[in-house]
Amino acid sequence: MYITKVELQDFRNYENLNIEFHPNVNLILGNNAQGKTNLIEAIYLSSLGKSFRTSNDFEMIKFGSKFFRVKIEAEKKNEDLCVEMAVSKESKAVKLNGRKIKKISELLENIYIVVFSPEDLKIVKEEPEKRRKFIDRELCQIRPMYFNNISRYKKILLQRNTMLKENSPKISLLEIWDQELAEYGSKIILMRAEFIKKLDKISSQIHKNITNGKEKLHIQYEANVPFMNSLQEQKDLFLEKIRKNIEKDLVRRSTSVGPHRDDLKIIINGIDIRKYGSQGQQRTAALSLKLAEIMLIKEETEEDCILLLDDVLSELDEERQNYLINSLANIQLFITSAELSDKVKRTLPEGKTFYVENGCVEQRKSTIDFEVVGV
Ligand code: ATP
Ligand code: MG
Repeated sequence: MYITKVELQDFRNYENLNIEFHPNVNLILGNNAQGKTNLIEAIYLSSLGKSFRTSNDFEMIKFGSKFFRVKIEAEKKNEDLCVEMAVSKESKAVKLNGRKIKKISELLENIYIVVFSPEDLKIVKEEPEKRRKFIDRELCQIRPMYFNNISRYKKILLQRNTMLKENSPKISLLEIWDQELAEYGSKIILMRAEFIKKLDKISSQIHKNITNGKEKLHIQYEANVPFMNSLQEQKDLFLEKIRKNIEKDLVRRSTSVGPHRDDLKIIINGIDIRKYGSQGQQRTAALSLKLAEIMLIKEETEEDCILLLDDVLSELDEERQNYLINSLANIQLFITSAELSDKVKRTLPEGKTFYVENGCVEQRKSTIDFEVVGV
């Protein structure tokens, strides 16, 4: 699967852009603040219908404009895909192959995109929310049901928390929210448990290869409500736990039980590296997790995803860079960088080079020779 074309209108610092990409490597070079990340942010919209940088769609409207339009075309094994999005402050319209979709879940399972930025290298040491986001993004792409469940869950949680903040919350109403929270929360827990188990298997193999067998990586689901074998048992346990904690929730005015409190435990050679890992270990584990995410998409969907490497190559040492590039032979890559060494360029397969300056993109050559093209 690969992106063939992108058209932008009043998107971030782009007024108008119409660009065709290479099925293998697309190197997007340029100085800081010129629009490199903006361009791959637009591409990412075609996968989940939202940005990886902001949850406010209208932030992407060019300053001074009323709306933005994005059109992304892709080629898959046996079909062509076209995703269009138009966003104004008041509305958001998404079309898939010319047909207006009603729910974002209809967009999922079409274009699979993984983004890898320097932020992701910190995923191991940062707060649990970052690790939950990592799980959620991936699961939403491969399981549209998960997207529905997590959207419902978040809405109910917000309503429950709003009620807890009222002066005298009605217990009978809270109990209704609790039923729903247990319903959707339990589905999320079971899907996360299955996903993490698979991710553990793949990432530990990758990590073993990267570290030449020196390190044994394991990831474990640290579930706030321990996961059970069946949905019914899961719901029962969820309800039991939430009822036990009602007094605490009333005092704290927030919900203490549920998958919004989950975490991912990351262990190397028996040690929890969230707390005790060296920076190098944490970054290598993050790389293993990202590569595992890509492989898992392939396993689950039989499709190669598209990888957006936003400023991340120069953050890795030579050995990690080579490992990353060599493992991505069949994948379309978008690589943004302010500066990329000739040595790295030489390791890249065939592709195109673009140069971005102040919201304008210039292609430097039709087929690239990464050794001579660049800045
Ligand atoms: P770096 O190398 O530092 O990561 P970059 O080329 O990736 O830089 P981007 O993040 O793509 O930079 O673009 C940043 C530029 O886009 C900034 O100059 C910012 O002011 C501008 N920008 C961001 N949002 C909007 C918007 N809604 N309208 C117009 N310009 C915007
Ligand atoms: Mg950037």
